[in-house]
Order: sequence, then C-alpha cells, then structure tokens
Amino acid sequence: TNQATSIKLVLLGESAVGKSSIVLRFVSNDFAENKEPTIGAAFLTQRVTLPDDTIIKFEIWDTAGQERFASLAPMYYRNAQAAVVVYDLTSPQSFLKARHWVKLLREQSGNNIIIALVANKLDLCEEQAQPETEQEETEPRGNVRKVAKEEGQKLADDEGLMFFETSAKTGEGINNVFLSIAEKIPLK
Ligand code: GDP
Ligand code: MG
Repeated sequence: TNQATSIKLVLLGESAVGKSSIVLRFVSNDFAENKEPTIGAAFLTQRVTLPDDTIIKFEIWDTAGQERFASLAPMYYRNAQAAVVVYDLTSPQSFLKARHWVKLLREQSGNNIIIALVANKLDLCEEQAQPETEQEETEPRGNVRKVAKEEGQKLADDEGLMFFETSAKTGEGINNVFLSIAEKIPLK
C-alpha cells in the first residue's frame, strides 16, 4: 500500500477573509454563515489522492488574523512547505494585507515555500453578462468586487505565486487550490 506524503501548510491573511471557511470546505465540504473567529491557530488534516494514486496528507495550520496573534505567525510558517495567502475580493484592505504576507514569506522562506494566493468570496461578485440591449441604468446586482482579478494575477506573476479565485460558500475552486499545491510539491 502507498505511504502518505505529508505537506505542512499554513493559511495566512486578514481576519474574516474566509481562511477557516476554506479549510472547513476542504476538510468537511461544509460552510457556516456565521463562523466564530479562530483563536490563535487551529490544526486540521485532510488526505487526498492524486491521479497517480499518490496519497497526500495535508497538515493545515489555520491561523488567526487578529493583530494580537501576528507575532505567533512565524511559528506556523517557518516549517511550512506551502502557504495559502487569502484575501477577500470585496476588501482592498485585505489585498494589501495579502501583499504584506507574501513579502514577509519571501523574505523569511525565499523560494523554498510554495505560495498560493487566493481571492475568496467569489460568490459575492456575480460576473455581469454583457447586456444585449442598452438598458436604463440599473444597479449592478450583487457585484461588490473591489479587487480586480488582474490585480491578484499581477501580484502572483510578480512574486511567483499560484493564483486562484474561490468561494468557500459555494465550494468553487477550493479543492483545486489544494490539489494544485500537492502537484507542485516535490514528493519524496
Ligand atoms: P477567517 O477569519 O479568515 O478565518 O474567516 P472566516 O472563515 O471565519 O469567515 C469570516 C466570515 O466570512 C464568516 O461569516 C464566513 O461565513 C464568511 N465567508 C467565508 N468565506 C466566504 C465566501 O466564500 N463567501 C461568502 N459570501 N462569505 C464567506
Ligand atoms: Mg479563522
């Protein structure tokens, strides 16, 4: 039988961007509308099987975004092989924070760490279909996107990150984040 290969992964990002929700979706395929904030950090594991039958065991540290826990973060990312840096695409502030985390990770871990940049809450931004006829001005319904996909993609290109847009609420793109990381990790 196949031995599982472990991947140590840390989630970083501003408070309330959906880090814990992403983990909950990945680990339990579940979502909670009013998730209680993470205190300190939470540890969860999840196994996935790659197409070539390799078994990967993710060891996930889900950190708290609050400033008072920021000093603890190095404890979690220092030994991580992969980091998922999350922002909320309705919050420019959270994108700034994501930039900060990426910079810090590159300073501390160089290119030894695989980083996925994740723009979460995609469900809140209905892509507007091209109107077929010119209509009187209507409010674009539900489109609260504040960070363009191109901005995220540019940061990713500049810093050598993988880039994804996800919704922990609908599950869109979540598994793909982890599978893509697994496929990038050199397996022993
Ligand atoms: P964390 O502080 O980064 O761990 O964020 P949480 O996972 O605790 O989520 C913060 C809030 O955002 C909660 O109310 C979640 O239900 C909500 N949330 C998380 N992900 C999504 C998402 O993809 N879409 C929407 N609409 N809400 C989300
Ligand atoms: Mg949390």
